[in-house]
Amino acid sequence: MDELVALCKRRGFIFQSNEVYGGLQGVYDFGPLGVELKNNLKNAWWESMVYENDDIEGLDSSILTNPLVLKYSGHESTFSDPMVDCKSCQKRFRADQVPPECKKEDLTEPRQFNLMFKTNVGPIDDGSSFAYLRPETAQQIFTNFKNVIDSTSKQIPFGIAQIGKAFRNEITPRNFIFRVREFEQMELEYFVEPGNDEQSLDEWVQKRLNWWKDQGVPIEKIELYNVPTDELAHYSKKTVDLMYMFPHGLEELEGIANRTDFDLASHSKKQDELNITSNVEKNKHSNSKMAVQDKKGDWIVPYVIEPSAGVERGILAVLNEAFVKEDLGVTLSKKVKNSLQKLGLGRVILENTGNIGKGYRRHDEIGTPMCITVDFESIEDSSVTIRDRDSMDQVRVKISELAEIYKNKIK
Ligand code: ATP
Repeated sequence: MDELVALCKRRGFIFQSNEVYGGLQGVYDFGPLGVELKNNLKNAWWESMVYENDDIEGLDSSILTNPLVLKYSGHESTFSDPMVDCKSCQKRFRADQVPPECKKEDLTEPRQFNLMFKTNVGPIDDGSSFAYLRPETAQQIFTNFKNVIDSTSKQIPFGIAQIGKAFRNEITPRNFIFRVREFEQMELEYFVEPGNDEQSLDEWVQKRLNWWKDQGVPIEKIELYNVPTDELAHYSKKTVDLMYMFPHGLEELEGIANRTDFDLASHSKKQDELNITSNVEKNKHSNSKMAVQDKKGDWIVPYVIEPSAGVERGILAVLNEAFVKEDLGVTLSKKVKNSLQKLGLGRVILENTGNIGKGYRRHDEIGTPMCITVDFESIEDSSVTIRDRDSMDQVRVKISELAEIYKNKIK
């Protein structure tokens, strides 16, 4: 991971955000190459979702979110993580992410910490006019359900796709861009008839695996994790996480959830007239009936299948797959140097400079009798180039012959 982070900075992929003022924890900036990579990944997702599927429409909704949306979605009451304080090191941790150095007896009892960011809206800051920064892009897809149906005449099954920023005040952001406080999500909400939900979820898992394969993340490196019932989010009937072996360990790259009719039903008016299967709070504020009518005229609240992927986690996976450490002959050149040095004929200098021609001229000037160049081919065929100072001739010889040639030249 450290080498990947260093490369990302050196080559302009990813920088620590606000770095000139000491940074801001849990946020990153994408540099000249990073923004291209990010756009490529997002465009690939958009094409595969929106352009290649006639039953999927796109959306770009607001980040600022009316608190009522996140009240009825359940986020105000449940979107929290258990947090503990360590009395010894004075730091705060997510209860399941306490470092081993902190002793159990130094930890406080876990208490719930809501992860949503609040901001003031409008010129009066008296606490009555706040909005949330959305913690997921999904909720504004649900609130636009009727708008999209009315403007596109879609019928179920159909989907709404969105890419955009999401914000979570993570207690312990870490592992580079894996867990951050500001990130982007690529989310599809796919609306199906109740009863067709289980099959649809299985289909989306396969489609998403294939998509990751096309992005250079092999299916063999992704493990499917069926989230156990006691760990499921309040809205979910079933969730399959695509787990990828990141540089720091096996963790969630994308989650594919069967959100049932929970979201549409939660945001709907006249809930009594609908055939709701999930357990929702009575909605006293909505002005939209989030349901469709079947052929008989009965109201149905569609079930929702949601593939939700993080752009940053995708970038980390793609970079990790592309990251290859190459030995450019340094190990071999060290071996060559050491073996000649042992012959006791004076100092042998190892240099790792870029321009070989300039290096030869510099050594001509200081009087070095011969130069030996180890290159890519050396690794394959155990040969090196010898360059003679006086004749300026270059010959290719086997490494096994080198000691003899060297001895003859220097003695
Ligand atoms: P985790 O369990 O790792 O906190 P989650 O289950 O809360 O993740 P979801 O709510 O399912 O995540 O969000 C969908 C996707 O959004 C995740 O699969 C992930 O790719 C991305 N994501 C969620 N939280 C973060 C974060 N803090 N930083 C970067 N990406 C994130």
